[in-house]
Amino acid sequence: MKIVRHIAAVQLDGEVGLVPTMGALHDGHRSLFRAARSENDVVVASLFVNAAQFDEQADLAAYPRDEERDAAIAESEGVDVLFAPEPAEMYPPGFATWVDVEEAGDEGRSRPGHFRGVATVCVKLFNIVRPRRAYFGQKDAQQAAVLKRVVGDLNLPVEIRVLPTVRDDDGLALSSRNARLSADERARALALPRALHGAIGTADPVAAAAAGLRDLDPDYVEVVDLGDARVLAAAVRVGDTRLIDNVVLEGALS
Ligand code: AMP
Repeated sequence: MKIVRHIAAVQLDGEVGLVPTMGALHDGHRSLFRAARSENDVVVASLFVNAAQFDEQADLAAYPRDEERDAAIAESEGVDVLFAPEPAEMYPPGFATWVDVEEAGDEGRSRPGHFRGVATVCVKLFNIVRPRRAYFGQKDAQQAAVLKRVVGDLNLPVEIRVLPTVRDDDGLALSSRNARLSADERARALALPRALHGAIGTADPVAAAAAGLRDLDPDYVEVVDLGDARVLAAAVRVGDTRLIDNVVLEGALS
């Protein structure tokens, strides 16, 4: 696996699959690497903690960084190129152009500026890497929906692939932020997947999930349209940690 730090050094042949990440890699990222490996000639993973998408500075400061460990995981899953630029490579002085999706649902309203940062960095990555397919996790369903909209609205020649959420044995969706939970907080956080799963098949899934999440004071419960699937999504705060999750209500991810 080649580690590339400069945009000019990204030179690829064949059909490329791109997996954008911020590092702190876990089994959720591994499943994206595997899908990309099985569907493309060349697999590129990006490793870039995108400051532009953090709406809370404390969250950015606490974000775990371990490039050596991440590179070993990416290499073990068959990634060919790890694109790991410095911030100034992506946002040089004078940078002033942003991709701003005007409608990004409740998650967008809860995190002002977040999806502007996500959409901008992903469009930059699409232009730098020129992938045929780009891989995202269902875990961040609103992110996948935003990127599908960007690709459609701007006629970008990349297919957005959304892969199912990978969970721990207790049902909690894998996330780099789970490491911040105390044992007691983790036990309370399990109400999130339970309430979402319990709402599937009820007459009013949003109300059912909201009732199951009463004790966690959710930011929102919303239905997100991913084109082929509709998911029930929610965000909660457990202690200082914000967690999101979702489950498929109808259709299937593709
Ligand atoms: P991140 O590094 O957290 O920005 O995530 C990089 C990609 O991995 C995003 O497309 C996420 O949706 C995806 N991802 C994160 N957690 C999971 C998970 N538990 N299962 C599947 N995909 C995930």
